[in-house]
Amino acid sequence: MDHFIYQNGALFAEDVPVAEIAAQVGTPFYLYSTATLTRHFKLFDEALDWGPHLVCYAMKAASNQAILKTLAAEGAGMDVVSGGEYARAIAAGVPGERIVFSGVGKTHDEIKAALSGGIRQFNVESEPEMRVISEVAVSLGVQAPITIRVNPDVDAKTHAKIATGKSENKFGIPIARAREVYAEAARLPGLKVVGIDVHIGSQLTQLEPFEQAYGKVAELTEALRADGHEITRLDLGGGLGIPYTRSNEAPPLPTEYGAMVQRAVGHLGCEVEIEPGRLIAGNAGILVSKVIYVKNGEGRDFLILDGAMNDLIRPAMYEAHHDIIPVREPAPGLEPQPYDIVGPVCETGDTFAKERLMPPLAAGDLVAFRSAGAYGAVMASEYNTRPLIPEVLVKGDQFSVIRPRPTYEDMINRDNIPEWL
Ligand SMILES: *Cc1c(COP(=O)(O)O)cnc(C)c1O
Repeated sequence: MDHFIYQNGALFAEDVPVAEIAAQVGTPFYLYSTATLTRHFKLFDEALDWGPHLVCYAMKAASNQAILKTLAAEGAGMDVVSGGEYARAIAAGVPGERIVFSGVGKTHDEIKAALSGGIRQFNVESEPEMRVISEVAVSLGVQAPITIRVNPDVDAKTHAKIATGKSENKFGIPIARAREVYAEAARLPGLKVVGIDVHIGSQLTQLEPFEQAYGKVAELTEALRADGHEITRLDLGGGLGIPYTRSNEAPPLPTEYGAMVQRAVGHLGCEVEIEPGRLIAGNAGILVSKVIYVKNGEGRDFLILDGAMNDLIRPAMYEAHHDIIPVREPAPGLEPQPYDIVGPVCETGDTFAKERLMPPLAAGDLVAFRSAGAYGAVMASEYNTRPLIPEVLVKGDQFSVIRPRPTYEDMINRDNIPEWL
């Protein structure tokens, strides 16, 4: 459920007409709903209420400071995957003890910054990384709390580019070698082992792969405890999928996910952490764009939008589907017609949808891409020297531009001309 709905023939974001924001901000832009963001966070938080837990929002899904502050105010922790994201979490006022640091290639400097600023735990991805974390901790005179990310070798049944839990993926250490690696971790002077981490992929639409992975983590917990390790914390990753279209089968709800987690690991008495990103931000954001031209091609009509693949790359990168709806509610009885919906960028890949049935549209009409809140703005680029588009946050009847559109001058002035030119 989200808060982008038609009222009196117009698309609203909570209590604000989307067209009104477009008139003030200009198109294209990302638009987020505070109520949807907080609702999704609370659903997860409540789903784990059966035991001690922390929901760490995976901020790589959408990392605007205003979004982070909104979620932090609800009590969210943060899952960060870079020094930049760590700095964002701190800047948003998230205390270090609520920040977990994931990612396959943490550098010396990133580790140092996190140990100095405060960190709940590092999720270690490899033995060389584990040794560097220990070294940095020793040099700072502290112990780094760690979990080790295990790769459980399960098929997440999702798009190949976002599956992370098979043995051929670059993530984590093979679960079969976990006891050996934990034994080394326990010997390293700068580390304090606190638990186990797993994350098998993104946009999972079934519970079964999670349950399989978490079952393996439960077994490993018992084995590691028998080896003398104190395992008090299980980080179970993110990955629960969202419905990108209203017609396909609905992914499991956070409540069902939470009950499955309890079944799989509830008996172990561990504190549970989860790292949802997409499910919190995905349906909390839309991309609003304007039709520049309707072009009648041979055997097909093109809707040429002012938004493009550089603003929302998911269709080009993952063949992702986004529902696209007109901002003015179509009159009932209008015969839908097929359009190829494209952006102005000079690549054929800049195609959002082919033969998409839409009500008849004309130049100047506004459309909204639904479910664009996660992996949207954060993956945008300035390709074709198109400015990064603004982000806007709605709360009730208020809205605020939480990232302005840069001017062409801003963009050009970021380059430096060498003296010899
Ligand atoms: C990307 C990622 C997440 C979030 O995944 P979602 O599918 O957005 O929930 C969580 N943990 C790790 C380690 C990740 O890389």
